[in-house]
Amino acid sequence: MDLQHWLREAARSHQEWAAGYGPYEPHPSLAVDDGRFAEAFGEFTERLKDNYPFFHPRYAGQMLKPPHPAAVVGYTAAMLINPNNHALDGGPATAAMEREVVAQLAAMFGFATHLGHLTTSGTIANLEALFVARELHPDLGVAYSEEAHYTHGRMCRVLGIEGHTVPVDDRGRMDVDALEELLRTGRIGTVVLTAGTTGLGAIDPVDRVLPLRERYGVRVHVDAAYGGFFTLLAGAEGEAGLPAGPWWAVAGCDSVVIDPHKHGLQPYGCGAVLFADPEVGRFYLHDSPYTYFTSAELHLGEISLECSRAGAAAAALWLTFRLLPPTPDGLGRVLGAGRRAALRWSALLEASEVLEVYQPPELDIVSYFPRTDPLAFSAVDAAAERMLHRGMTEDDPVFISTLRASADAFSARHPGVAADKDGARVLRSVLMKPESEHRVDELHDRLERLATAG
Ligand SMILES: *Cc1c(COP(=O)(O)O)cnc(C)c1O
Repeated sequence: MDLQHWLREAARSHQEWAAGYGPYEPHPSLAVDDGRFAEAFGEFTERLKDNYPFFHPRYAGQMLKPPHPAAVVGYTAAMLINPNNHALDGGPATAAMEREVVAQLAAMFGFATHLGHLTTSGTIANLEALFVARELHPDLGVAYSEEAHYTHGRMCRVLGIEGHTVPVDDRGRMDVDALEELLRTGRIGTVVLTAGTTGLGAIDPVDRVLPLRERYGVRVHVDAAYGGFFTLLAGAEGEAGLPAGPWWAVAGCDSVVIDPHKHGLQPYGCGAVLFADPEVGRFYLHDSPYTYFTSAELHLGEISLECSRAGAAAAALWLTFRLLPPTPDGLGRVLGAGRRAALRWSALLEASEVLEVYQPPELDIVSYFPRTDPLAFSAVDAAAERMLHRGMTEDDPVFISTLRASADAFSARHPGVAADKDGARVLRSVLMKPESEHRVDELHDRLERLATAG
């Protein structure tokens, strides 16, 4: 699709709709002449160049990529109206779209029933899940793994509940025995499992924890902010397929968070929280004298902690899902490409004499480190840092990221690397663009050259 064409169409269709209400006089206080605009815009676009090329396969660093053009056009077209999905009277069309995309997400996870909504971010979505958890278990704590996103610890403090970290195994997954030991204390009301850790993409064993839900009377919340869409590859044939166990078990959990602004091709400002039991809506109820006067239905604003929220975010996701739905043949193909890229790169790293895999990729995140001489934390750390900076600044640039590995985590995976300090940075590449699939050999060669350049 031609972005310029469809952006013009977005503006045109908005004008056509607006014209139906008859002409009105624009206020002179808002007038900007084209000459002044051109000057400001020139300065603005120059300023924007101070960015990394997230769109390009050379960028193989953090979890960043531009939205799909369909999302850009959908967002722009809706933003010209600027509906607020806080309440139905803030924009009925985008509120309806939000309900539809949320139902698609719930179906993707296999939820039989659901209550959910979009949020501005995974952080807010997780906060909402923990807020509901606290309402149900006001005096009990929350357990999450050492590798869980730091938001869980922080939000436990915000909510005034106790957070407990559970150790992980040598693949960064929650240790179920350690969890059960903690559950036996009777101090835990909610277990947070991460399906795709932010650092390495590790999947906590949701299927093994789920039976503990009944036994210990705990809620199970799944933070799939990053990894959620990978459920589309669960049980799939071919090399991109993922073990189905943990993913299919999500359907039996109490809540799940997913970020369409990570793997759902959306611009920032699009997370989602889903609850399996619609009854939890009662914890949100409030009476606002200002809004909610057009319908007796439960409004989105009545089931979310945030108030104003971009209806455009729902519109963008809706339009994207019309074209690339959250199904194995839709978005699944996009994620499969990144997964194959990660596996391919991992195989090249295995065969490399200068680079070594830190942990085999669970999803589309590759982690690796230079085989330094001497092979010790301090040398690996310094070389990783040097490669990161040289990669960005030299000709034929390549953009990667670093991940801090603790001494324990590093030694559990690579006991042969001398532990001469308290851990080391390793290199990390998130291959979330399907285009990475065509670029892996070049990326690998470039990284090998960086590793050997003294
Ligand atoms: C990104 C992420 C978050 C935080 O989400 P934001 O959208 O950045 O606020 C929480 N948990 C996990 C596992 C994540 O990857």
